[in-house]
Amino acid sequence: MKKIEDIEIYEGDTILDKSTSAVEVKEQAFVPYGDYHTHTNFSDGQSTLEENIQQAIALGLKEYAVSDHAFKHRASGITLANFLAQKRQIELFKERYPQIKLYHTLEANIMGYSGKLDVDEYKDELDFLQMGFHKSATNESFATWWSFTATNLIFKPSAKKIEKNTLAYLRCIDRYNLQFVNHLNYGILVNVKEIAKACVERGTKIELNGKRIFFSQQEVDDMLETGVDFVVNSDAHIATRVGDVKLGIDFAKEHGIPLEKIVNLNKSLFN
Ligand SMILES: [Zn+2]
Ligand SMILES: [Zn+2]
Repeated sequence: MKKIEDIEIYEGDTILDKSTSAVEVKEQAFVPYGDYHTHTNFSDGQSTLEENIQQAIALGLKEYAVSDHAFKHRASGITLANFLAQKRQIELFKERYPQIKLYHTLEANIMGYSGKLDVDEYKDELDFLQMGFHKSATNESFATWWSFTATNLIFKPSAKKIEKNTLAYLRCIDRYNLQFVNHLNYGILVNVKEIAKACVERGTKIELNGKRIFFSQQEVDDMLETGVDFVVNSDAHIATRVGDVKLGIDFAKEHGIPLEKIVNLNKSLFN
């Protein structure tokens, strides 16, 4: 097993010293009850599942979910073989680490304006569902890729385009039982208020992502008005970032999101 000291520690804007131990990381960041969005080396993460779990335990997290990029992520989607292997690993680690509750899921990709996800066939195998837009995900067809992915990345979206993007999300939220939606407004602009309303109806939360948050103050105010709940996750791609939800907490404090609206700070996402 690779030791934490041997891993190159660089993640987004956060640069941790290579010698940073789990305990030191804990002092730097607020530790939530559970971290439900993390990656391993089965997608584009750098650490193994077991390294992530050990870090989660060292920090005192009570729950941990692995959520590697799902199948249609072009560069780093998990293979079916690795997905099935990971499922077996999770069962093994549940026995090895009874002090933490483990969940197996994927970060599903929204595939186009139909709102379909790329995990349809395996969604019953997952402990819960979460989804996001990823520019490197394959779409349902070339035409969908052009209209849904490419044009959103190349051109500044018109109001009409934003409404269309929003409709894709609304269809997705309606179709699936999502626990939360990941990093809204990342790569694709949406009407956050409309999405928050739909989330309230479906019991879906909005993620304050540990790497990137793209909400204006107006959007935060709009979301709060709907009564939607939030979840803070690390989106860690390396074990040392597991449980690091500082960005989400800081954002909440700065933008007036009451911490009691963040459901996984002191209790399970599933309570
Ligand atoms: Zn993502
Ligand atoms: Zn992610």
